[in-house]
Amino acid sequence: MTPEALREEVTAVPAEALLPTATGRRAAQVVGRYVRQRPGVAVVAGVVSVASAAAGLLAPAVLGRLVDAVADGGSIGGYLAALVGAAVLAAVLVGLAALAISRLGESLLARLREDVVARVLHLHSATLDRVRRGDLLSRVGDDVARVSQSVTTGLPEVIGAGLAVLLTVLGLGVLDWRLALAGLLAVPGYVLALRWYLPRSGPVYARERVAVAERADALLGAVQGAETIRAYARSGPHTAEVARRSAVARDVGVGVFRLYTDLGWRMNAAEYAGLAAVLGVGFVLVRGEVASVGEVTTAALLFHRLFAPLGTLLFSFDEVQAAGAALVRLVGVVDLPDPEVVPQRPPAGYRPAVELRGIGHRYGDGPAVLADVDLRIAPGERVALVGASGAGKTTLAAVLAGAVDPAVGEVLLDGVPAAALPGRGLRDLVALVSQEVHVFAGTLADDVRLARPGASDDEVRAALELVGARWVAALPEGIATQVGEGGTALTPARAQQLALARLVLADPPVAVLDEATAEAGSSGARDLEEAAFAATARRTTLVVAHRLTQAVRADRVVVLHEGRVVEEGTHTELVAAGGRYATLWAAWQGR
Ligand code: ADP
Ligand code: MG
Repeated sequence: MTPEALREEVTAVPAEALLPTATGRRAAQVVGRYVRQRPGVAVVAGVVSVASAAAGLLAPAVLGRLVDAVADGGSIGGYLAALVGAAVLAAVLVGLAALAISRLGESLLARLREDVVARVLHLHSATLDRVRRGDLLSRVGDDVARVSQSVTTGLPEVIGAGLAVLLTVLGLGVLDWRLALAGLLAVPGYVLALRWYLPRSGPVYARERVAVAERADALLGAVQGAETIRAYARSGPHTAEVARRSAVARDVGVGVFRLYTDLGWRMNAAEYAGLAAVLGVGFVLVRGEVASVGEVTTAALLFHRLFAPLGTLLFSFDEVQAAGAALVRLVGVVDLPDPEVVPQRPPAGYRPAVELRGIGHRYGDGPAVLADVDLRIAPGERVALVGASGAGKTTLAAVLAGAVDPAVGEVLLDGVPAAALPGRGLRDLVALVSQEVHVFAGTLADDVRLARPGASDDEVRAALELVGARWVAALPEGIATQVGEGGTALTPARAQQLALARLVLADPPVAVLDEATAEAGSSGARDLEEAAFAATARRTTLVVAHRLTQAVRADRVVVLHEGRVVEEGTHTELVAAGGRYATLWAAWQGR
């Protein structure tokens, strides 16, 4: 595949599907800010690094003296001892410098990680729906790993190498300017190598990142949709797609390696030219008795000493660039506009009236899912939403909870439009309990406490009791029992109860329950129904009723059909009216 075709291949991703990427300058600013937050660590890392680079100059200097001592027939014992001392000192300092720099790097990385995770957790769900999961996952996975790897292994080396080059060139200049000048002959070769390499490497690394993200995306989609793919016998095309994207990722990877080896021979040629020039000029100087053999030896050794750190620097351009590409993607996430404002806690007992006015919605450019929905819920009233699967109940619930911005219409609380509410708007005032309950790893108490971090153990117990979670008493360590991954597994019904206990603890003025009872078997479902009833008592509540017994107990029932409200009234009224609800009720009773 030609590079052009490859670029076509990997850039054919609609831009709005990817999270933003920061500029290099912006990334540097963010890193600078992190460094300034750790001034002590930064200063220690700087001082130790310079000392370590300086210690590396001792050995060539001592060796030069030793050569002169041998030429003069003097004793070399002292020089040998100094050589050993210099080596030990340099080794210790190099170790300390690496330690100090990785320490600084790790603390910066920790901050970056925290900021990325905090930002991702606060992403608006509409944004999350729009971006590709593969892109998000490759940022919090691959990109963090890439930056992390270069912080622990690459960064100390790059900084050490940079300082070593700087001090060695200085040392060479002080020793003899003519020899230093001769060494400059290597520079054109290096410049040519870099001018060849740099314009090629940046795009290749960027492409590598994209290709890896694309592959992750294809693989993830195939794994998550495995059931469907199998059911429709579509595994062939999906496997082919995964294979195709893997091939793209592999080809880009091979391209990266080819680039790397090509840079290698170009640098070797430059080094050869430089060293040959130093030795040639040194020969002339010694012959003219302008310099001693020892001085030329030191110069040659110093010059030779440049190869390793220069190689490290040049070869780590790839590492630095790859890490840079990952870093700007991470900073892009950190810099996402933050719609998050300080959450506002409404006063206890506040029970607003809810009004959904002229709500209409469609997902992307799909068909209308909701149309002209007007719905009022009085303070403390419980309204049940009833309708066939696909009627739009979940979408309406999400609109009320502020998780979905409706295409048209608005949600008002006590007459105030959602957009004009303080703090995070609907999300501060409306709690949504959906079918997908995640049990986080940790103690049961902490899991419930997510809803209100300051809550005491007694408050947690009271919340669990209110939702009838009697099984908690039977757990080995009560609310201190470890649950979630690696802990005691909770049944779906118990997980739902946990979610309801969180709701009690959060004490939101408005509650929206969607499919909260649909998961459990019949007796479990009845328990959950009780729990949901207790948790929402006296709150302004919208319940998506999957069991019509929930509708019976509601103050009012609203029937949704193909995105429109078609009936509204109490259970008794609607049964008497003999419409759609009455039919549903008859079917429910006769089931
Ligand atoms: P209900 O909860 O009553 O079953 P939903 O609100 O879940 O109804 O779905 C209403 C319609 O919207 C369905 O046709 C469904 O396929 C579609 N829909 C729901 N969520 C999405 C989504 N995230 N993207 C695209 N279409 C969706
Ligand atoms: Mg639904």
